Amino acid sequence: DEPIKQDFVRQIVRDDIASGKHTAIKTRFPPEPNGYLHIGHAKAICLDFGIADEFGGVCNLRMDDTNPSREDIEYVTAIQEDVRWLGYEWNELRHSSDYFEVFYLGAEKLIEQGDAFVCDLTAEQVREYRGSLTEPGRESPWRNRSVEENLDLFRRMRAGEFAEGAHTLRAKIDMASGNINLRDPAIYRIRHLAHQNTGDAWCIYPMYDYAHALGDAVEGITHSLCTLEFEDHRPLYDWCVDRVDLAGHPELLRPLTGQGMPLEAAKPRQIEFSRLNINYTVMSKRKLMALVQSGLVDGWDDPRMPTLLGLRRRGYTPASLRLFVERLGVSKVNSVIDFSVLEGCLREDLDVSAARRMAVIDPLKVTLTNLQDGHSESLEFPNHPKDESFGTRQVPFSNRLWIERDDFAEVPPKGFKRLVPGGEVRLRGAGIMRCDEVIKDADGNVIELRCTLDPESRPGMEGANRKIKGTIHWVSAEHAVATEIRLYDRLFSVADPDDNSDGKSYEDHLNPESRRTVTGYIEPAAADATPEQSWQFERLGYFVADRHDHSPQRPVFNRSVTLRDIWAA
Ligand code: ATP
Ligand code: MG
Ligand code: MG
Repeated sequence: DEPIKQDFVRQIVRDDIASGKHTAIKTRFPPEPNGYLHIGHAKAICLDFGIADEFGGVCNLRMDDTNPSREDIEYVTAIQEDVRWLGYEWNELRHSSDYFEVFYLGAEKLIEQGDAFVCDLTAEQVREYRGSLTEPGRESPWRNRSVEENLDLFRRMRAGEFAEGAHTLRAKIDMASGNINLRDPAIYRIRHLAHQNTGDAWCIYPMYDYAHALGDAVEGITHSLCTLEFEDHRPLYDWCVDRVDLAGHPELLRPLTGQGMPLEAAKPRQIEFSRLNINYTVMSKRKLMALVQSGLVDGWDDPRMPTLLGLRRRGYTPASLRLFVERLGVSKVNSVIDFSVLEGCLREDLDVSAARRMAVIDPLKVTLTNLQDGHSESLEFPNHPKDESFGTRQVPFSNRLWIERDDFAEVPPKGFKRLVPGGEVRLRGAGIMRCDEVIKDADGNVIELRCTLDPESRPGMEGANRKIKGTIHWVSAEHAVATEIRLYDRLFSVADPDDNSDGKSYEDHLNPESRRTVTGYIEPAAADATPEQSWQFERLGYFVADRHDHSPQRPVFNRSVTLRDIWAA
């Protein structure tokens, strides 16, 4: 039923199955637990899990936790919740740190093969020796240490005999390589830091490239998808996989048997795709962290944040995010996606899945003078204009209403089709009303409209067919429930908040209008929402009952998205 996706990654997988290179597909999603997942990660998640699903394979969730300094168990937990919320279940949950002993044995193997050496250069010297794009690097004076000396030093590094920075373990590859990643990159460094998973067991930690390649191999990953900035690292990735050769040396995996892990090492293939960038937001974890820590947003789950938790609280559905990723496609071309594409996907999903309700967010009082005080009746409304399966509901109606302030204009602008003094407008599902009198306060502000309801224009009557230009929504003031409504908008007011060419930083580009809280009124059947339930408030947009603060007794709704793109130029 679903169209076959034809991107280059899926084509590689298809070819690998057709050629018999692989019979089972295995992928992984490897976040570093140093922050919350964002919409960019959703792209990677949908690809990693989605491709495994489509080809009958499996996907692991791997915490890529090789750098203890910024990692925390808080993120480990949150990442799992986010992945499940998006609708994916992992084959196995792993931590790169589960493999530290394997990585260590792999490093000793490299030393024994003459493929790695302990180096005493300082970080600054390493930089000097590395050379540049136009200039080859110079070999470290420690490069030709004997295997015995290297092994001894590396074991003593592990034993904690040395201070941070005193030694590194470096791969011995090629200081003249045109690819700087191959100029004897560090694969281990000393860090006297406790780790969120392994505690004090280690004081040497593997570098990303080495650990990532070996982590993929250990798990038997067939296709290792990552973003384009790792393209230049692929030769190093392949070097690590080939030289350590876990698939050919199952004895190196022995530390894992005690932990009940299968020994299924393979030779994985790294494939790079372009990262997701969206305008009007920032996406690096570092910047998101700074927004949270400086109090510029109300936490990681602030509904203006591009984090999955923020989007969720804003009312984004898993289906809308999966639709978004599908629509983006997969390629190797970097681009910036317009924020409105994301909003469009949410509208598309909620148009189908959200029931309709009426709410007034900027209330103006209306009294229907030809109805009795205390008049109360119940009108039947369909819950969805395009889908009868949503059923109907009763909406109370009385002689006192709230309408939207901007549905009335004393001095109407050109083309205004709604209520004006002496004019008529249709009240959605209730009849045609004429404005007889405009009541103002001492300052001249309109505070009430006194109107009459045409008794011959009630729904179903002949008189209801009269041509009337405008239809407006309303709620019965007698029955409405006062509601906190949080009107969210884009967090940044410029398309590229990261552009600092004008000397400003992204914090200077925050949209001061990005959050406004008002008290509105909603029909009783809207207040009943369960947390995270979405409605379309007719003519206003999609709103979600706040995950944390909403209750039917004290309703709180967040505006997820307006019905139309108000940012379009
Ligand atoms: P950040 O730069 O925001 O810190 P990261 O790449 O360091 O992100 P990781 O936790 O290492 O974050 O990412 C886990 C996976 O998600 C990686 O495979 C990474 O390539 C992918 N990923 C991260 N950001 C994006 C993005 N914007 N678009 C697509 N994939 C992404
Ligand atoms: Mg990363
Ligand atoms: Mg990172």
